[in-house]
Amino acid sequence: MMSTPTTVDTLIHADWIVPVLPHGVVLENHSIALTGDRISALLPTAEAQSIEAKRVIALPGHALMPGLVNCHGHAAMSLLRGYADDQPLMPWLEEHIWPAEEAHVSEEFVADGTELAIAEMIRSGTTTFSDMYFFPNACAATAQRLGMRCQITFPIFDFPTAWGQDADDYIRKGLALRDNFKHSALVTVVFGPHAPYTVCEANLAKVATLAAELDTPVHIHLHETAGEVLLAVEQNGERPLDTLNRLGLLGPRTQCVHMTDLGDQDIALLAATGAHVVHCPQSNMKLASGTCRVRALLDHGVNVALGTDSAASNNDLNLFGEMQSAALLAKLHTQDATALPAADALAMATINGARAMGLEDRIGSLETGKQADLIAVDLRGPETQPLYHPLSQLVYACNGSQVSHSWIAGEQVMANRELSRIDLNALTRRIDQWQRRIATGPGAA
Ligand SMILES: [Zn+2]
Repeated sequence: MMSTPTTVDTLIHADWIVPVLPHGVVLENHSIALTGDRISALLPTAEAQSIEAKRVIALPGHALMPGLVNCHGHAAMSLLRGYADDQPLMPWLEEHIWPAEEAHVSEEFVADGTELAIAEMIRSGTTTFSDMYFFPNACAATAQRLGMRCQITFPIFDFPTAWGQDADDYIRKGLALRDNFKHSALVTVVFGPHAPYTVCEANLAKVATLAAELDTPVHIHLHETAGEVLLAVEQNGERPLDTLNRLGLLGPRTQCVHMTDLGDQDIALLAATGAHVVHCPQSNMKLASGTCRVRALLDHGVNVALGTDSAASNNDLNLFGEMQSAALLAKLHTQDATALPAADALAMATINGARAMGLEDRIGSLETGKQADLIAVDLRGPETQPLYHPLSQLVYACNGSQVSHSWIAGEQVMANRELSRIDLNALTRRIDQWQRRIATGPGAA
């Protein structure tokens, strides 16, 4: 037991606190104290009166909860939001997204696109995101500058792109980036081999060796569609998940993104190796990719986190929407209305994401000693009244716009929906310029 501190930086009183751990718990009339970058107390409001605080914030009608953890995305692609909708995956990529990226992607594109993404994420309750994109140095620097927590997964391909020449070049640049940010409290840098169909076995094996040596996570697109799995079986006589396992790339450091085409043997292998799954329900639905068997994975003890994927295939970076979609899709898919209850969806968007990134000791729940990454949600509006079950309301009735306040590592990054480090007017002007350039360039629909 930690003793109650006598003086703290910030003391927040809220009607409800949803700490996520313990699972499904809602605390009424509790307060949370922040000291430096940490949570220093979580206690009944009546007992918090003796605490001296530099700042006291009363939030009647609000719920406090951990900041959401977006475990998969490509932040800078926010500049391509709504650019080419309602297309199948391959024509979407080959005729629109890839030509536009080839024409426009640069450090400036990534910095501005990432700032747009971070503004949207903070305003919809996310305090940690994972990113895989070209010029990860620009994404990392932008997140650091804006006080946003993130996992940068530096991309690895066999072929040249705007950011590198071949796998060795991507790995060399990525490890240099990891070195640059090794003392950052907010930014972690991990391996991002793009997918088994864009990185050959020799290079995947190289990643497996380095990741084990450096005890660093690996983030990879895997089983995004049944077609991808079928093609791999035809070409290699093996499912991609089995290939990863054979190469020593499947374990508790591995984050497998999508996993739509899952047989029972795949689920058993994920459970046995301790690999994590990142479910992206809205992207999977929009691109008609397939359905992840979330309930079966959770029942077998596999950790399942949530991601938005990019705003080009979603079209937002709102994890409240993702929680709803995950819960509804699981119910429809299993034809069981009890599949994936609200508390499970909330855990996927918070503590499970933290576990997938290996950050569960620091973020993902509201507990004394953890990082002060938390949000306040205003439940007084007509959209969230009446209020019988706060946790259920957060998952099924909130659309993200009710998030009023946000703290990351103890710093208040949003108050009453005003962002503290981002000038939205200036950002919008820069985005307007990108829109004009991109709308008339290659790949425009
Ligand atoms: Zn993706």
